[in-house]
Amino acid sequence: MVKAVAVITVSDTCFKDNTKDTSGPALADFVRELFPEANLHTIIIPDEKEIIERELKYFCESSLDLVLTTGGTGLTPRDLTPEATKAVIQREVPGITTAITIASLKKTPMAQLSRAVAGIRDKTLIVNFPGSKKAVTECFEIVKPILSHAIALIHDEKAEVSYIHKSMQFNHTCTHVSNVDVSKVAFRPRESPFQMYEMAEAWKMVDDVMSEWEERVEIVTIEEGLGRVVAQALSSKEPMPPFPASVKDGYACLSIDGAGVRRVRTAVTAGDAPTAPLCAGECARVNTGAAVPAGADCVVQVEDTRLVSATEDGQTEIEVEILKAPEPQQDVRCVGFDIPMGTVLVDKGYVLDPAKIGILAGAGYQNVTVRAPPKVALLSTGNELQEPSEVKLRPAHIRDSNRTMLRVLLKEHGYDSIDCGIARDSPPELVAAISAALKIADVLVCTGGVSMGEKDLLKPVLLKDFNATLHYGRVRMKPGKPSTFATCEFEGKKKYIFALPGNPVSAYVCSLLFVVRALRVSCGVRGAWARLRVRLAHGAALDPRPEYARAALALSPDGDMPTATLLGSQCSSRLLSACGANVLLELPGATDTQQRLPAGAVVSALVTGRLDFTS
Ligand code: AMP
Ligand code: MG
Repeated sequence: MVKAVAVITVSDTCFKDNTKDTSGPALADFVRELFPEANLHTIIIPDEKEIIERELKYFCESSLDLVLTTGGTGLTPRDLTPEATKAVIQREVPGITTAITIASLKKTPMAQLSRAVAGIRDKTLIVNFPGSKKAVTECFEIVKPILSHAIALIHDEKAEVSYIHKSMQFNHTCTHVSNVDVSKVAFRPRESPFQMYEMAEAWKMVDDVMSEWEERVEIVTIEEGLGRVVAQALSSKEPMPPFPASVKDGYACLSIDGAGVRRVRTAVTAGDAPTAPLCAGECARVNTGAAVPAGADCVVQVEDTRLVSATEDGQTEIEVEILKAPEPQQDVRCVGFDIPMGTVLVDKGYVLDPAKIGILAGAGYQNVTVRAPPKVALLSTGNELQEPSEVKLRPAHIRDSNRTMLRVLLKEHGYDSIDCGIARDSPPELVAAISAALKIADVLVCTGGVSMGEKDLLKPVLLKDFNATLHYGRVRMKPGKPSTFATCEFEGKKKYIFALPGNPVSAYVCSLLFVVRALRVSCGVRGAWARLRVRLAHGAALDPRPEYARAALALSPDGDMPTATLLGSQCSSRLLSACGANVLLELPGATDTQQRLPAGAVVSALVTGRLDFTS
């Protein structure tokens, strides 16, 4: 299965001059169509050999299956993509480029001038395409039939990831060994050896650890920038509006002329460049957004005028009367009124929203440099789990719902993730699956196997086989008490592991409270969710632990604060209790004097979902 693909646009002009990149997005679309499950990375880089080499190596080290480049394959001195690719690949695949050349020559003799290269580095296939959208479209058609097979072959040779996946799915034994001894089940601890931390302490640990994440950036189109954190400030290169513009439909005139009759000299609609300046006693009919002619210093809205004379056919106004004396600058947006030239349009750390993206588009920016979040892998653990797609459930089995739920939950909050399948509850299989995940990701989110049963092996495997530091292994919260956060060094890099309980509600709540927070912090956004004060619509029993109860908000008819209704039984296996939840209520732990909150009690609510009020 093709899991991750990169499309690199190599172009000085797209990179530096903000020329619109059309080939990269076209190629990205083809990739999406062919490999809809794959994680797709797109970047634009200049025609610099070292940068091209660096990015190719980066993607290969990140174990991407396929890297496609577009641009820089021709004969100009700056065309260096083939040289950079040759420097990176370990084995050439000349058949791919030969096939492209043969097919392209049938269309144009210019194909002789392409020097594209294809080859393999580690487990990544790299293919150069020419720079034009047309060429990219034609070339992709040629390589399309062989890409999946080529990638499968490359993986078979080094077999590790695909072997592990097969072993997970078909219960094969695997070659990894573990230091965890599971033979003495009777002597396992009956009390959790892990210290119980308060939520505030757990959050602080997540924040402290994740804020060490080194700043990585990538260039994306402004549209792809939605929800991303800006890494480089962008300033306006031109004033907005670039000319004095009318705010109203009316008449541009000279304020010094006061009220009275004016000769209608000309008409200027939006987009027309006015030619001659206005003189005293004259006016020009203008539309909203039209350029105000030189000489004029105000606009009088049509409602404040009266027609005095017109040609008989009604096609031309000759004179109008200005009924109210205008002020200078009335209803004129001067040059730079909305955005003066040189204004910082987006600053470092800003999370891009549609309005800012509109401003960037209006200022002529097509790309923006944003923070790249850590790569996230998702792994489910449990002997009882089957793939959701399997038709028949085996006895005592259930379908894995966590992976799908967490993948879309992360997506909803703007983060991609890589699906690493299901691992069985055996130490060697867990070692194999976790190793495979850590090879391709920075953050591993796994569910299941963290509580007190003899098959709950995640914590010992992390400690004994990965030499991990467990920052916390128990948190005073409900649901999610055995939630675990660990870091370890793997193949020379620091990795971050969230081992969450398998119960779907625990996995859901802990992903929101810890994982999304961690990903935000790593991009420079402070992690906390917005908190609201809300009123309970009904009484609620309190658990000894502080509880994150799933609830739906409604506006109260009397204009008081919103009311929150718990979504049925809050049992941690019952995912229905999270369906339609837009908040997690922070219910306090029960005390000797308070075991229940009455209807109407005010509690705080973390806004973790969309606030689409229905009433
Ligand atoms: P565990 O955390 O492994 O002790 O699992 C707790 C409960 O969650 C058990 O009832 C599991 O069957 C269930 N569970 C674990 N993983 C998943 C999953 N990926 N999807 C759905 N349920 C799960
Ligand atoms: Mg389990």
